[in-house]
Amino acid sequence: MTLRDSERYSRQILFQGMGQAGQQRLLDARVVVLGCGALGSFQAGALARAGVGRLRIVDRDYVELSNLQRQWLFDQCDLEQGLPKAVAAARKLAQINSDIFIEPVVADLVPGNADELLGDTDLILDGTDNFETRYLINDYAVSNARPWVYGAAVGSYGITMAVVPGRTACLRCVYPDPPSGVQPTCETTGVLGSVTSLIASLQVSEALKILCGGGPSRKITTVDVWSGEIRQVAEPGPQAECPACGRREFPYLNGERRAPVSLCGRNAVQIHERARPVDLKELAERLAPIGVVRANEFALRFEMPPYLMTVFPDGRAIVKGTTDVGVARSLYARFIGG
Ligand SMILES: [Zn+2]
Repeated sequence: MTLRDSERYSRQILFQGMGQAGQQRLLDARVVVLGCGALGSFQAGALARAGVGRLRIVDRDYVELSNLQRQWLFDQCDLEQGLPKAVAAARKLAQINSDIFIEPVVADLVPGNADELLGDTDLILDGTDNFETRYLINDYAVSNARPWVYGAAVGSYGITMAVVPGRTACLRCVYPDPPSGVQPTCETTGVLGSVTSLIASLQVSEALKILCGGGPSRKITTVDVWSGEIRQVAEPGPQAECPACGRREFPYLNGERRAPVSLCGRNAVQIHERARPVDLKELAERLAPIGVVRANEFALRFEMPPYLMTVFPDGRAIVKGTTDVGVARSLYARFIGG
């Protein structure tokens, strides 16, 4: 450790739980922040300041005006420059700490690139916004014995749990399957910046502790910053009947659970979801404040220029206005839920 490191991280080194040895482990650590939205941008900033030696920032989106309310790393200049979030984040992080290595990756996690994006790391931080991706992270983490820290927030509510394969429950021990039907998302229900930063802060604390060699807190924490309620329950430990860590089945990583997507005509993408019954009337009510919605019992059309999304009762959707499969998936996750 250099003299500059000793000075920069002195307050953290003084902290008993960490010490010089813990700080050295952080400097040697490789962490991936997956998704650089409200959770991820906070996590990335905190980990860069704490001196995690190698940070990979993965995100597929660009900075938008509606992000600035809660995505701490970004500012209006990033928006004017039209920067991808991963790139904007890397620039900010380099100003915060130029002594660490930062690798921005503009990409969407899919089974085919999981090894490339999540390999060579000691820990994965969940900054994603949909369950499909979280179950993929869980499959990858469990099959590769890699710790990861789950976190999610919408409205004023948030939840987090650290997963250390072999020692704690994994996501599927607690929630064997992703929630079905329409889920509230930040686009439809809104989200407070205070709950995302709180959840991200708890995730970062767990990450630092695990990286320093301490055990995870072994709790599932849920918070509602509006009602002021904070609840914790003990995580149940690894479950023998868990499909992932018990039976070692990894359908999300093998791509079996991913709804296939295809190009559909000119400038449109179809998401062939079939097992996600959607209440079109309820979805119409959710989407009404953010775009033009027309719905009947057979389909719902949602206009949000330049896109037009048509959703069917079985969950299938056609997204017009793009040929980019990732964009279509991202819109589906944002508006229907993922
Ligand atoms: Zn499990």
